[in-house]
Amino acid sequence: SITPATLSAISNAARKGVLFKGGVHVENLSHVKAIALDKTGTLTKGKPEVTDAHFKTDHGMDEVYITAAVGAIENESTHPLAQAITAYSRKQIEGKTEIEVQNMKNVSGNGVTAMIEGRKWEIGKPEFVGKEKAEAFLGGVASELAAQGKTVVFAKADEELVSVFALKDTIRQTTKEAIKQLKDKGIVPVMLTGDNERTAKAVAEEAGIDQYIANCLPEEKVEHIKALRSKYKNIAMVGDGINDAPALASANVGIAMGEGTDVALETADMVLMKNDLSRITNTVTLSSRLNRIVK
Ligand code: ADP
Ligand code: MG
Repeated sequence: SITPATLSAISNAARKGVLFKGGVHVENLSHVKAIALDKTGTLTKGKPEVTDAHFKTDHGMDEVYITAAVGAIENESTHPLAQAITAYSRKQIEGKTEIEVQNMKNVSGNGVTAMIEGRKWEIGKPEFVGKEKAEAFLGGVASELAAQGKTVVFAKADEELVSVFALKDTIRQTTKEAIKQLKDKGIVPVMLTGDNERTAKAVAEEAGIDQYIANCLPEEKVEHIKALRSKYKNIAMVGDGINDAPALASANVGIAMGEGTDVALETADMVLMKNDLSRITNTVTLSSRLNRIVK
């Protein structure tokens, strides 16, 4: 049964765009000492755009063909990076090239693979296509792109690197303030991301987050949540993606962004309807106050 005080806290939160799926979560939120935050789509808008493209055209394919091929493959993926690359590709090729993609496969936390005209394509992060070759391909540009907080996506055709796209996602307007409020309240923010170390560092710095875990595979997010639980005892996790659902379920309080995927919304204990992270701190205050009244 739910007490009138809890009920009033829930309706109070709802008016501010924070949805609780039950009274117990209001109580749990008041004990949270650390909060894990997914990067893409949570701290950032999750709508990256291609800012740079580099090619190597000495394998019998020109820039237009490579751009068209990568766009056609990514068109079959729902990943935010894939959608950005597809949009960029469409704009660049202006319908000049029609490409048939076969056997497209998602490699979770890494990228995608597919076949086009007998060639095997692999598209994804540096580790996925071979980190050393990827670094060499970019030369001096790599560290510059990463320092700008950009994510790099490589394309390999039949074992040869043929292109790299750099993408920039923007941090949400409310992120910095939200992180500051959490820290002021003594709640430790920790960023979790599948992105590489240097990009992760740049985004964490921009958000004001001191602790981050980069190169985090979707299945590893749960392990990190468990580790954070043993360190801080009560933790929350905020996420938006299908990938985040198991981690949301493993935290004491799972929080989903309102514009997140259905699976994240279903798994979470609490939903930020307006995608506004700064509502979390107000809600923690609200829940602590309620606890004092009840006890
Ligand atoms: P995040 O935790 O940042 O949301 P993911 O776990 O979804 O990231 O993916 C981790 C990394 O794998 C991405 O930063 C990207 O480099 C690569 N990746 C995943 N899916 C794709 C894709 N469809 N196309 C290109 N790269 C991808
Ligand atoms: Mg995400």
